[in-house]
Amino acid sequence: MHAEMNVLRFAQPGDEIEVMRFKKCTHAMTMAKPCNHCTQAMISAGIKRVKYTDWSGKWIIMNL
Ligand SMILES: [Zn+2]
Repeated sequence: MHAEMNVLRFAQPGDEIEVMRFKKCTHAMTMAKPCNHCTQAMISAGIKRVKYTDWSGKWIIMNL
C-alpha cells in the first residue's frame, strides 16, 4: 500500500496532502510524486492539492 492510500482514510474533502520520500541510505528527500493510481484515489476523495518533494528535495505543488 502506498502512503497516499493510507492517509486518505483520515483525509477530508478539500484537504491538502503532503508526500515526502527519503532515500534509504542517505535519508535525503527524493522524488515522491504520487503514482496515477494514488492520484485518482485522491481526486475521488476530494483532495484539492498535493505537495510532494522532487529529486532535489524541493516541494512541488500539484493542483488536482
Ligand atoms: Zn501510489
